[in-house]
Amino acid sequence: MNPNEINIHQELKKFFGFSQFKGLQEDVIKSLLNKQNTFVIMPTGGGKSLCYQLPALIQEGTAIVVSPLIALMKNQVDAIRSLSSEAGVAHVLNSSLNKAEITQVKKDITSGLTKLLYVAPESLTKEENVNFLKSVSISFVAIDEAHCISEWGHDFRPEYRNLKSIIKQLGDVPIIGLTATATPKVQEDILKNLDMCGAKTFKASFNRPNLYYEVRTKTKNVESDIIRFIRQHKGKSGIIYCLSRKKVEAIAEVLQVNGISAVPYHAGLDAKTRAKHQDMFLMEDVDVVVATIAFGMGIDKPDVRFVIHHDIPKSLESYYQETGRAGRDGGEGHCLAYYSYKDVEKLEKFMSGKPVAEQEIGFALLQEVVAYAETSMSRRKFLLHYFGEEFDSQTGEGATMDDNVSNPKTKIEAQEQVLK
Ligand code: ADP
Ligand code: MG
Repeated sequence: MNPNEINIHQELKKFFGFSQFKGLQEDVIKSLLNKQNTFVIMPTGGGKSLCYQLPALIQEGTAIVVSPLIALMKNQVDAIRSLSSEAGVAHVLNSSLNKAEITQVKKDITSGLTKLLYVAPESLTKEENVNFLKSVSISFVAIDEAHCISEWGHDFRPEYRNLKSIIKQLGDVPIIGLTATATPKVQEDILKNLDMCGAKTFKASFNRPNLYYEVRTKTKNVESDIIRFIRQHKGKSGIIYCLSRKKVEAIAEVLQVNGISAVPYHAGLDAKTRAKHQDMFLMEDVDVVVATIAFGMGIDKPDVRFVIHHDIPKSLESYYQETGRAGRDGGEGHCLAYYSYKDVEKLEKFMSGKPVAEQEIGFALLQEVVAYAETSMSRRKFLLHYFGEEFDSQTGEGATMDDNVSNPKTKIEAQEQVLK
């Protein structure tokens, strides 16, 4: 179909009920409809899914969507099915299907009914599946969470490295890669590994003007400091991130003893307890979740008012993702991190048990976190610069929203404070 003949606004309304595109969506969709390789970098919540869902729905053939998480795939398939009268419009192809289900999926694809086929990267490497996909009409391949291809990303998955050679076997189909990871290094890796250096690239701003960034020196009084902070935000929802499960338990208990409603969340708790604690937080039965990084994937609570890092994160990427869970509704979001060099050494020691290549990457990422914590410049400018984005710390949106800008200190002072 000629992309110029399609009224994509009308299609947007028809399928999704939205009257406007969000951010760069329209340009991305046009690029894909023009059969160009396309690369999309947008923060979480930016609306990346629609960038491939709409073009898939309005074109001939089936779009293959590669995604790393089975739960996320299922969610998306259910959502797409609810937009259509045909259940076959979207399918998942993975190892959980039985023979009869696989037959149905293949039938729907062959007949042209299926517009979106979600696959895990490991299913796509199966020869049987590849042979089948070679025999049908594919509109394009979407690679969601494309940073999984890079060792510099926060979620490296080796199977993503095989994708390009498989896609090549499918013939000349356009590729769209999508990620919320904004570091230039990861982007370069994605383009190189997918062999699409000439791709049209669309990058949205990562600035979150309503978030206030603050770093405090971590002393032995960190717990009472956190308690004071939470009391100043009485009744508000917040997340406290800790590095270890043990610390999560300990902090949750200290908070409870001090009359703050808090629950722990980490991968060592059984699934039922985890689900219960997450629901309690979402339903506002508790104010605070104390958690390891296991908490937050896909959590969409709009009114989280603070995110505290009791321990520094392993990379600025994780820091951005974790703080990004505050203020989704555009309201206040206070991001407070406690920093001590001892914690850095602890992380380094922890990493020294890993393979050398991994260690090197780990150290380099950690050094950026140290530099961020110790800087006396605008933290927002620092963060955005890390993501390859220029920010004007005089006039940019949210320019005054950090401790260094609202309460400037000299560089010497900043370092002294950290060393204390
Ligand atoms: P991402 O994958 O970038 O994190 P999603 O694709 O999950 O983001 O979309 C985030 C939210 O934005 C979803 O609730 C989606 O329905 C909504 N959304 C996407 N596009 C639009 C639009 N054009 N108008 C209104 N809401 C939109
Ligand atoms: Mg997404």
